[in-house]
Amino acid sequence: MSLIVQKFGGTSVGSVERIEAVADKIAGYRDQGHSVVAVVSAMSGETNRLIGLAHDIQDHPTPREMDVLVSTGEQVTTALLSMALNKRGYTAKSYNGSQVRILTDDTHTKARIKSIDGDRIRKDIEAGTVVVVAGFQGVDEAGNITTLGRGGSDTTAVALAAALKADECQIYTDVDGVYTTDPRVVENAQRLDTITFEEMLEMASLGSKVLQIRSVEFAGKYQVPLRVLSSFVDGPGTLITLESDTNMEAPVISGIAFQRDEAKISIMGIPDRPGVASQVLGPISDANIEVDVIVQNVAADNTNDLTFTVHRNDLQDAAAILNQVAEKLGAREIVTDDQICKVSLVGVGMRSHAGIASKMFAALAELSINIQLITTSEIKISVVVDEKYMELAVRGLHSAFGLDGEPESVE
Ligand code: ASP
Ligand code: MG
Repeated sequence: MSLIVQKFGGTSVGSVERIEAVADKIAGYRDQGHSVVAVVSAMSGETNRLIGLAHDIQDHPTPREMDVLVSTGEQVTTALLSMALNKRGYTAKSYNGSQVRILTDDTHTKARIKSIDGDRIRKDIEAGTVVVVAGFQGVDEAGNITTLGRGGSDTTAVALAAALKADECQIYTDVDGVYTTDPRVVENAQRLDTITFEEMLEMASLGSKVLQIRSVEFAGKYQVPLRVLSSFVDGPGTLITLESDTNMEAPVISGIAFQRDEAKISIMGIPDRPGVASQVLGPISDANIEVDVIVQNVAADNTNDLTFTVHRNDLQDAAAILNQVAEKLGAREIVTDDQICKVSLVGVGMRSHAGIASKMFAALAELSINIQLITTSEIKISVVVDEKYMELAVRGLHSAFGLDGEPESVE
């Protein structure tokens, strides 16, 4: 008998039929004796519809009113799902975020959860009631409705699972798990049985399509076992855990992530003395531009070249800032390139295996793909390459590291 928090995303509750199917799934768990707390998103398309209505009235509605508006989508689903459960003879009760007292800070539209009062829910659970909670929303100290940012229902579910010390937090979505890479790029991509929180965070560029990344951080911090699975097809999904796969044969590399929306910017011939990197990157961060890869090289003439990557949308702003810096520092020139992408190998197995980087570089050399930048962490090796080789690089690495499986048969 365990306590399971189950989160159903927008497509999983996208119609009355889908809500009925979710009720059947929950009923199945109840019949096995498990306690279930369900967290639901708004029906698919609903949040966007509400945002559209707001913008029909005002270009920049106050964040407070936006939260009152968009939080209604989830409330609709909670009531419908509870009705579907009641119809099946199960007691169920719907609650919105403020009733459960999901207390957040007052940052409207991207609030952070501070605490959850699990007591009321616990009483319901003990009485055998399925508790259905509206995802994505909370309440601040002053009683204002807040929301947690797009995709925030995942975070609601994980936070509830942590507060209730649930045995597992299951995220039901329209994909059946986390894959070795994007199956749209590599058709032989395989579903992973397990992945660690660390790896999942490093795979963010892929994983964020499946899970709100904040929920993964949260689950890692509170050690909530998190499972991603499909509400459309039965299967074990992917379990995200603290421990890596104990199977000795487990692959060293778990997956290949990539990002196409990056741009590279280099400032050449800056003085080689203390403080220069800070003079270059300080104004960039002051402008709230996120910097990803940073590489610096010393030239023979006592000058440095510094290269970094930013989101492609930020390239113009970053270049404008650098032009001013360049003048002050007497830099030789600034070079930008928005036709790049980043490809990363991710795996905790790297910690205990040598030679992964050289194998990666050899595989890319074989494909005549030129590597522009290299950066590594304990569990990740990333390269920046020309964008036009992205798919080739991902496919080549996927097979070089033995991740290709048999193509899944279509049911
Ligand atoms: N309904 C919200 C959204 O569309 C929250 C969620 O689905 O997690 O972003
Ligand atoms: Mg979602």
